[in-house]
Amino acid sequence: MRERETVRRWHGYGQPDWNQTSGPPEGRQTGGTDGEIMNWNQREVRTNARIQLLDITGVVAAELEKSGVQTGVCHVYVPHTTAGLTINENADPDVARDIIATLNRLVPATGDYRHVEGNSDAHVKASIMGFSAIVPVIDGHLALGTWQALYFCEFDGPRHRHVVIGISGE
Ligand code: ZN
Repeated sequence: MRERETVRRWHGYGQPDWNQTSGPPEGRQTGGTDGEIMNWNQREVRTNARIQLLDITGVVAAELEKSGVQTGVCHVYVPHTTAGLTINENADPDVARDIIATLNRLVPATGDYRHVEGNSDAHVKASIMGFSAIVPVIDGHLALGTWQALYFCEFDGPRHRHVVIGISGE
């Protein structure tokens, strides 16, 4: 059993107002209780269609592995207004297809919308999906169900997007 310690870090979250050459402040401390690691990182996601469910389980799992956390919680957050996040089946790709088809039926691209950008359907679809997920971390792994995957939900792509991944635990 390793000695209890407090390690709190903040890496790579490129806030637009941060100086591009100096980059984000290293070693920024975040919350957490003694003995816990609390580590936040931002990863890039590139989507390649206007509407797309992109499996980002591997991206999140890689961050977890880097953190070294064995028991804890993995928080995944999407800092956008026209993209969201969900957990669902990745064994049969038709499940993601069916989710998209259903969202398109419920929230058509055109309709009674006022938002001047013309992408109201994307905003509504993103809110239906939500912007965050929490996955248990057990024995150093994401404790997703056998058929579950984390999906980044693009609704106004293709775009260069970000996902914020926070891992807490010990
Ligand atoms: Zn908009």
